[in-house]
Amino acid sequence: MAARDRGRLFVISGPSGAGKSSVVRELRQRRQFYFSVSATTRDPRPGEEHGVHYWFIAPHEFEKLIERRELLEWAEYNDRRYGTLRTPVLENLELGTDVLLEIEVQGARQIRESYPEAIMFFVVPPSIEDLEARLRLRADTPEDEIARRLLIARREIAEAKGVFDFVITNDDLERCIAEVDELMSAVE
Ligand code: 5GP
Repeated sequence: MAARDRGRLFVISGPSGAGKSSVVRELRQRRQFYFSVSATTRDPRPGEEHGVHYWFIAPHEFEKLIERRELLEWAEYNDRRYGTLRTPVLENLELGTDVLLEIEVQGARQIRESYPEAIMFFVVPPSIEDLEARLRLRADTPEDEIARRLLIARREIAEAKGVFDFVITNDDLERCIAEVDELMSAVE
């Protein structure tokens, strides 16, 4: 197989609680990626580290990133902002390294427009009831936040049509990971 000059840009999206973080965690063990650490204005959850899970920044700092066009995409989610830093992503692609983004749907749509060759996956739960159960398993998520995330999830699932290359149902985590892994190997 001929060597590719540029890395591939992979996007994994899906509603909060669908299991995309678990999928991403395992894929990072199996494959070589540059994983893009996003900037966000939300507060860290217990155990989350600055520079590892996110760059946790103040709203005015996020505003500066937007003004300076330093974000490849960004979106507001649940009254907080989240964005992908442009330079490290483009530099890695340029160097031939595959890049992985884990982002919500509005951001994924922006990537689809600005980088049409991105390979985009949408991880969905088997049902909304299942999603609710999974969100409840996160002990640190308050009831009103679960309700808001469920509402957003319904909208995201409805909006996802036509944006993604692959829609993967997470009925079984191992199977779901294997499917994404195989597809990543298959697409060139
Ligand atoms: P959480 O607060 O649960 O960490 O993330 C909320 C949502 O924001 C998730 O769907 C997550 O994938 C998404 N997200 C994380 N980083 C980014 C980003 O850089 N851009 C966009 N558009 N969404 C992001």
